[in-house]
Amino acid sequence: EKQQGVALVIGVTGIVGNSLVEILPLSDTPGGPWKIYGVARRPKPDWSPDTSVEYIQCDVLDRELTLEKISPLKDVTHLFWVVWVNRETEEQNCEDNGRMLSNVLDALLPNAENLQHICLQTGAKHYLGPFDAVAGNRYFQPHEAPYHEELPRLPVPNFYYTLEDIVFEAAKKKDGLTWSIHRPSFIFGFSPWSLMNIVGTLCVYAAICKHEGLPFKYPGNRITWEQFVDISDAELIAEQEIWAATYPHAKNQAFNCSNGDVLKWKRLWGIIAEKFDLEPLPYKGEGFSLAEAMKDKGPVWDALVRENKLHPTKIEEVGNWWFAEFTLNLPQEMINSMNKSKEYGFFGFRNTETSLGQWIDKMKASNAVP
Ligand code: NAD
Repeated sequence: EKQQGVALVIGVTGIVGNSLVEILPLSDTPGGPWKIYGVARRPKPDWSPDTSVEYIQCDVLDRELTLEKISPLKDVTHLFWVVWVNRETEEQNCEDNGRMLSNVLDALLPNAENLQHICLQTGAKHYLGPFDAVAGNRYFQPHEAPYHEELPRLPVPNFYYTLEDIVFEAAKKKDGLTWSIHRPSFIFGFSPWSLMNIVGTLCVYAAICKHEGLPFKYPGNRITWEQFVDISDAELIAEQEIWAATYPHAKNQAFNCSNGDVLKWKRLWGIIAEKFDLEPLPYKGEGFSLAEAMKDKGPVWDALVRENKLHPTKIEEVGNWWFAEFTLNLPQEMINSMNKSKEYGFFGFRNTETSLGQWIDKMKASNAVP
């Protein structure tokens, strides 16, 4: 059988990494049959999909190690960047995330002769601003939704801008090397190791409420409860990345990537409540700190893991409380236009309510949550 694409997925156990390695091996995936290398920091977990991935354990922040592990992968044709590390300030995020990408590119560019394309995943914080600026009310004028790809950069540091600039420079160094940038909204997907898994986090919260008989209260503001936001299904993002990697007309472009519908958290809250047999409480207009409410629940989660024979996880890994607080307390509505993506020929979409139900079912079936 003829091998066509050779994918290098950095962040293979993450929320989109997982979907990439589910989709790349399928027989009808463009650019295939794919050979796949998958890189992550820790050893391969047993919940990782059992596909034909050559798993490489490597901390790409470590330059020596990265050069040692990635330089031998001379047959790589496509790089999928679905990784990030989270630091206290955005300046540090720029520094460390930039260094990770530079390390990998310095290993690939001189060695992977057939490297054709880089898929860089960033996100809608390109338009909204980075976490510390949004949360700290640092002064700048965010863009008005719906966001479109040609909006100018905001005048604040943002590691997404740093990563883009590194990719632009790399493309100049190698003839024929193309890129695409993918900007999802909040992602619905599967990974017990993601730094930002909103579905997983809310499932853990729901399971704890159920177990302790607590009210399933909404820890957000009225903007997200009542105004429109959009969501990005992890499989849809993987599909768009593979499309851009293999479709000639999509080269050297940035694309938003959201499901194509709009929703209110009011509706989604009811779906989560139903899946965990909880009462979806009406919103009373006052948010609360989920991190504060969950700070002593480690032992409760440990008991739930034991009693339900779940994959062993720590509450800090699966309950990304800070991220849920951010997601559900946006300062403004957030919608990303999919017009450009469609105009270029990507017509994928998801029904967000269906997508939410399916990811919760997948978490339960994989013994990630009760
Ligand atoms: P993730 O946190 O789900 O997964 C990251 C993966 O990278 C994990 O497999 C982790 O083990 C691995 N990893 C972390 N540090 C590593 C290192 N030093 N070396 C090797 N592997 C390492 O990632 P994600 O959420 O898909 O994030 C990718 C990009 O998408 C980021 O720029 C993020 O801001 C953006 N994004 C995420 C969301 C979301 O809801 N999760 C939404 C919009 C945009």
